[in-house]
Amino acid sequence: MNDRVYLDWNATAPLCPEAKSAIEHALAVSGNASSIHTEGRRARRLVEEARSKVAALTGAEPRAVTFTSGGTEANVLALVPEYECQGGKRRFDRLLVSAIEHPSVRAGGRFDHARVETIPVNSAGSVDLHSLERQLAARAGENVLVSVMLANNETGVIQPVRAVAERVHRMGGFLHVDAVQAPGKITCDISELDADFLTLSAHKLGGPAGCGALVKRNEGLRPLPLVPGSQEHGQRGGTENLSGIAGFGAAAARALEDLRHVVEPMRRLRGRLEEGLRAINPKVVIFGEEAERLPNTTLFAVRGAKAETLVIGFDLERVAVSSGSACSSGKVALSPVLEAMGVDSELAKGAIRVSFGVSTTKEAVDQLLNAWKKLSAGLHEKSAGLAA
Ligand code: PLP
Repeated sequence: MNDRVYLDWNATAPLCPEAKSAIEHALAVSGNASSIHTEGRRARRLVEEARSKVAALTGAEPRAVTFTSGGTEANVLALVPEYECQGGKRRFDRLLVSAIEHPSVRAGGRFDHARVETIPVNSAGSVDLHSLERQLAARAGENVLVSVMLANNETGVIQPVRAVAERVHRMGGFLHVDAVQAPGKITCDISELDADFLTLSAHKLGGPAGCGALVKRNEGLRPLPLVPGSQEHGQRGGTENLSGIAGFGAAAARALEDLRHVVEPMRRLRGRLEEGLRAINPKVVIFGEEAERLPNTTLFAVRGAKAETLVIGFDLERVAVSSGSACSSGKVALSPVLEAMGVDSELAKGAIRVSFGVSTTKEAVDQLLNAWKKLSAGLHEKSAGLAA
């Protein structure tokens, strides 16, 4: 297994060494963070240290960080019509979500479906600001919550979040940002982004799966809990996942540190990858390349190829990548992200996502390119056979 290359970091990033040792340390602590004895206080200290680290990653107050079971839960916690506001209530009449959001956002969280509207994206995979303006204007007088992700998990396209925030706030609305794919690659500072709520997921940034957070800019505005209980300042009941939270905190600190020095090397590596893909097959289309993208993500396709076959082909060549299409109940569905970008199905069904991280080497990218050389030759033969 050692010579395998893992290039599916956007699905789950490998556990970073800092998170691994924080988890091991936390597993040896036997207290419940709500208990007042010494063991309980030890557990509480670990939770609060992790909270401070997640707060530092997002430029928020530690108290504004609510730990959840992951990004999905944090999204559903945020997307609710009912909020508590300085002791009173605030109701949102409408939820606007972009067409390329994670399914947990596209489904509208806890909003009635009739109250959820979709904001289209352009062909580069970026939120259509003109359409957003028109949609907000049509809802003038309503209380609107908007959810737009910071960077797309499939294309890596970075969304114009500040421009979205400016338009949403001008109309008196609030903005939730799913920032799950961004840490360690671009800033996730909630004030810089001008967001009101931010979602994070530990396993996308080098921490363990099953842990995430909703971060608020203003602690006075609190969504109705999804899991009622006294923990997490009443925002999320249930005994805290101590080892998961400790690992999350350590990974968040590492991601903040990485941001300073790994972005340029990642961008160079992506350049090597994309040049190589095209040198081998000039028909390669790279989705979203006209827009600003995360430095670690490439979604590409060749017309007529089948992504499931290619993923298996790469796997046999000891390279893990993923397809831009999802398979459920034996049927392959086209990627809603590519559909929203207006990509035709013949091209979209061959979409392959390559995503890497801090420890990915040139040699790993070259192993993928060697595999692509073989698989691409197979595609060429197939299309020549069809033409004959
Ligand atoms: N948001 C985005 C953009 C994602 O890519 C994912 C995971 O695929 C999630 C949310 C969900 O996070 P989790 O797996 O922690 O529930």
